[in-house]
Amino acid sequence: MQIDVDVARRKVVVFGSAAGARRVVERYRRAGARVTLVSPGPVPPVERRQDTVKYATEPDSTDTSGLLRLIGPAWSAVVVDVDRAVRERVLELCGHLRVLVQREQPALGRGQVVLVGGGPGHTRLLTLEACQVLAEADVVFYDRLAPTDDLAELAPGAELVDVGKLPYHHPVTQRCIEELMVARARAGELVVRLKGGDPFVFGRGGEEMLACLAAGVGVRVVPGVSSSLAIPAASGIPVTHRGLSHAFTVISGHVAPSTEELAALVRLGGTIVVLMGIASLQQIVAGLCGAGMAPTMPAAVVERGFSPSQRSTFTTVGRLPAEVGRLDLRSPAVVVIGEVVSVAPAAGAGGDLLAALDSTWPVEEVPGR
Ligand code: SAH
Repeated sequence: MQIDVDVARRKVVVFGSAAGARRVVERYRRAGARVTLVSPGPVPPVERRQDTVKYATEPDSTDTSGLLRLIGPAWSAVVVDVDRAVRERVLELCGHLRVLVQREQPALGRGQVVLVGGGPGHTRLLTLEACQVLAEADVVFYDRLAPTDDLAELAPGAELVDVGKLPYHHPVTQRCIEELMVARARAGELVVRLKGGDPFVFGRGGEEMLACLAAGVGVRVVPGVSSSLAIPAASGIPVTHRGLSHAFTVISGHVAPSTEELAALVRLGGTIVVLMGIASLQQIVAGLCGAGMAPTMPAAVVERGFSPSQRSTFTTVGRLPAEVGRLDLRSPAVVVIGEVVSVAPAAGAGGDLLAALDSTWPVEEVPGR
């Protein structure tokens, strides 16, 4: 149920710690309410107060007149992270006075880093958890392949820092990113490190987690939808399929795998998914075919998945290297090698471009096998 109420000029008394209640206070303040924040201990020093917010020290749960002075004139009391005895007394008094009571979750703890998987470039593939963390973030360090289109709305309170491409196009080193994250978390901020796909799949998320731990900074991970699964799916390719493939291996082409590794993959069978593979495709294909993979094995390259310019090229493993040059295949792209490629609706078009375009899958190139 959602009820919209204009809270402008209404008195709202928020019970909670400054950190835990900061989002609630900010929301009511922005909506024009007259907010009083009631927290345990002394009121914050002037320099840490917000102009339009009043501050009060939380009375003891037995101090009925103290609590009544705060609750009595209020239109609503919001209970965030308060001691149980105080909370129960506030609820009781609000009941007697018919003051509206709301309970809100405390904001996520500050002074920590959250490594967030953003999915493969499209905001709609963010998880609910990723959206929640972004909404609470003080600063977001994001990458080139992370979903950035709606970042300003998703993280309205955050400074947004592009660490994939800073001014003057100087790439920020990994070490520098880790230092920035640690410094901001130590300054008490909720730091989000937003990455494309999943942070732990070729995303250096493990290194960043260890850097935080080594610096004594709290860190947690919000997994993301990895391009290794989602980009084949975007083109209708299931990475496993009963009777065709009961295993899939995700490899990086950033540094081409060795001949022995590729031979082992051929022996293993199943689907091979290559990330960052365009530059080393020739070497990978030579290794696979040299180890006995049939050059007629179906293969596909899906570029810029989930973007308006997504392009899927269906071919065979033997023809892959030639297609890279002929069709100017570019990164970011996922290469899929295996029988499962033939399951994709567009693959069946077998070179009939019109038939492929008629399908619901966004396919632009279906060269003949
Ligand atoms: N952590 C990421 C992968 C990072 S490596 C994940 O889990 O998805 C970067 C590689 O991912 C790219 O070179 C490309 O192979 C793949 N990739 C990421 N986003 C993609 C997209 N939208 N379309 C095609 N490939 C993509």
